[in-house]
Amino acid sequence: GYRSRAAFKLKELDEQFGLLNGVERVVDLGAAPGGWCQVVKQKKPKARVVGMDLLAIEPMAGVDFFQKDITDEDSEALILATLGGPADLVMSDMAANTVGHKQTDHLRTMGLIEVALDMATRLLRPGGNFLAKVLAGGGDGQLTAALRREFTSVKHVKPPASRKGSSEWYVVATGFKGGAAGGST
Ligand code: SAM
Repeated sequence: GYRSRAAFKLKELDEQFGLLNGVERVVDLGAAPGGWCQVVKQKKPKARVVGMDLLAIEPMAGVDFFQKDITDEDSEALILATLGGPADLVMSDMAANTVGHKQTDHLRTMGLIEVALDMATRLLRPGGNFLAKVLAGGGDGQLTAALRREFTSVKHVKPPASRKGSSEWYVVATGFKGGAAGGST
């Protein structure tokens, strides 16, 4: 079985977009308990997978886990060094730990997505893909604009396994333009 219900969401997103086709290097931001990593390894046993989370993660064959905040200054360098080359897919299922104040929670989660995107622009190979959980409503217009600058195609989707009433959506950005001058922001 899978370590998380989230695993089914990645499976559905892969079926729809072929995100895991041919991947050799994958980055999983906010990886605990490891369901997404399981789905990647199941489809691509030889893929090099690097996962990072604030929480400890049970070891998994062929996956490098780091218990670390992705916003730490040295996190990106650590991921890159462990990957051994540019990533085919950077994915983030991160949500900020909620403090119970709706706007604050929303802003904090959007902040994490921005960090993930910023990292992705330096970790991905040209043509690579980015998948991230986003929250519906408010504040994501700028994110979408940034994604459109960096990727050929940007789609917002709600996989069937995602609870209907939840504000959780996923953004699937494919075809990293790469190499162009300037960063994501
Ligand atoms: N995709 C995972 C799976 O299938 O097992 C589930 C991920 S869970 C929904 C989101 C994770 O993001 C949590 O484990 C949380 O600890 C992590 N997270 C939140 N903020 C983080 C940060 N700043 N750095 C690293 N991980 C973070």
